[in-house]
Amino acid sequence: MTSEHIVVVCPACQQPRHADQLISGKLIPPEVAVQIAHQHPDWSPDQCVCEVCVRQGKAGYLEGLLEGPIILFSQRKQAQRDRMRAQNDYRVNLKESWKSGI
Ligand SMILES: [Zn+2]
Repeated sequence: MTSEHIVVVCPACQQPRHADQLISGKLIPPEVAVQIAHQHPDWSPDQCVCEVCVRQGKAGYLEGLLEGPIILFSQRKQAQRDRMRAQNDYRVNLKESWKSGI
C-alpha cells in the first residue's frame, strides 16, 4: 500500500485529498499561507494544506498584487484631476474678483 491510496481531509477546504496532495503549511511561502488563512479562517500554517488550496492562495496573492497598483494609479489620476479643477476654479475666482473690483 502506497501513500497514493491514503485519503485525508484537507484542514483548510475540508475536501478529501490523497495524502501526497497535502503539504505542510510551513513549506509554502508566508504570503500564500496568509491568503489561504484568509480564504479558510479555521486553517493555520501549522496544519497541512492541499495543493488545490495552495493554488487558490497563490491566485489570491497574485490578484492582490495586480489590483494594488491599478487602484493606486486610478486614485492618483483622480487626485490629479481634482487638483487641476481646483486650480481652474481659483483662476476663475481671481478673474471674477478682479472684474468686480474695478
Ligand atoms: Zn484544501
